[in-house]
Amino acid sequence: MSESPAMIMTHLGFRLDPNNLYQQVVTQVLESAKRMELPGYLQLLMAQPKNEVKVHFPVKMDNGHFTLFKGYRIQHNNLLGPYKGGIRYHPHVSLDHMKTLALLMTMKCALADLPYGGSKGGVQVDPRKLSPNELQTLTRRFTSALGANIGPDHDIPAPDIGTNAQTMAWMADTYININAGQRANGMSVVTGKPLHFGGSEGREKATGQGLVYVLEELLPELGIEMEHMSFSLIGYGNVGSWTGRLLTRRGAKMKAVLDHTGAIFNSRGIDPQALTAHVMEKGGVAGFAGAEPMASEDFYGCPVDVFIPAALEQMIDGKQAKLIQAKVVAEAANAPTTPEGERVLASRGIAVLPAILCNCGGVTVSYFEWKQNRQAETWGLERVDGELRRHMRHAAFSVKENAAKYKCDLRSAAYCAGLSRIAEVYGVRGIFP
Ligand code: NAD
Repeated sequence: MSESPAMIMTHLGFRLDPNNLYQQVVTQVLESAKRMELPGYLQLLMAQPKNEVKVHFPVKMDNGHFTLFKGYRIQHNNLLGPYKGGIRYHPHVSLDHMKTLALLMTMKCALADLPYGGSKGGVQVDPRKLSPNELQTLTRRFTSALGANIGPDHDIPAPDIGTNAQTMAWMADTYININAGQRANGMSVVTGKPLHFGGSEGREKATGQGLVYVLEELLPELGIEMEHMSFSLIGYGNVGSWTGRLLTRRGAKMKAVLDHTGAIFNSRGIDPQALTAHVMEKGGVAGFAGAEPMASEDFYGCPVDVFIPAALEQMIDGKQAKLIQAKVVAEAANAPTTPEGERVLASRGIAVLPAILCNCGGVTVSYFEWKQNRQAETWGLERVDGELRRHMRHAAFSVKENAAKYKCDLRSAAYCAGLSRIAEVYGVRGIFP
């Protein structure tokens, strides 16, 4: 197929919009597919998810009134294995966001060489405004509304923004209770569970740990020593705080952090452990005694070696990209850089390490958890970390290999690496019927 990504999307009924997140990411993936001269059917299959599940469900709030919530589960592709992807609780959860993240999961699992396809789900809600009781009821109602659309062999959720190990425990318990035949295997319906209920050692820190292994592999070629580098972070939740703690343990200095409550700075370095305790207590970085407050524009311009977005999508557009004073942007969050932001960074010689490589440690250890549940095994932390490092190094190597083969940037190369595995498997499986 010689059609451009825009022509393919137009044929599929999209109204073209350059600011639309889903269209931005599909365009990048289809450009890589064209670069590889992949068959037209494969480009069509990548451009839309297989299934889009949308549910509305009521929850009785603590005040006795009912609220109707909207939830999604998008299943992009299951060629390589069951669908796999996180569950997000956030007020901006939308169909397009979920479609984007599901597509990225397909690419990420293929790049990381995992036996999974890609999916994503979420509920349009601000979890900070709900009581623990309301959150539990919402999670159980959402799980029952999803019904047979999730399952240990079909589609396996995990934590994402606004959800955590407790959310996964409620999901698994609900699933086991409504699927009597699944009692033995039922807990593997989700990953990222608490350690004493089928969780894996190393899962909570896995995304941050995976990023550290990727940086170990890629930074030396960019002339940066992890032991002496400085970095800044957007987001200090699961991914941000673990990245901060793990990089600091390796000798790096965390100079600035921005989250939804504000930005903080300390030229001598911020203590990541103390900041984690502060965020647990106060809900955000603002007011942390071990650093100075700063304006968010100044945060972007703070000079560091590595700039790490670990929060929401599209947080580095053209305007922010002009401010960034770093040698490298390492994308811990999904789709944090817009195409315009990426053009500006490239023109300024700032390297971008792509999200599907940088943050695939989370789903990799989720795979280890699923495997342990199904084989009734418990792995120690050393084994988890060792296997994770092997997967991350392999993924980083295949991104570099594809960058050299197709003479392209690292994001395009990461998509090429994922697509080549998908193309090989479609080649042997064919398209049903
Ligand atoms: P989280 O809910 O634990 O933390 C989210 C962080 O984003 C918080 O610190 C919050 O303050 C910050 N944030 C929210 N709105 C913001 C704003 N407007 N400005 C600045 N900061 C803001 O979520 P998480 O699990 O750490 O996920 C972070 C990113 O990493 C997401 O893109 C997610 O999809 C991606 N990711 C997570 C995992 C995982 O294992 N949790 C795996 C792969 C990718």
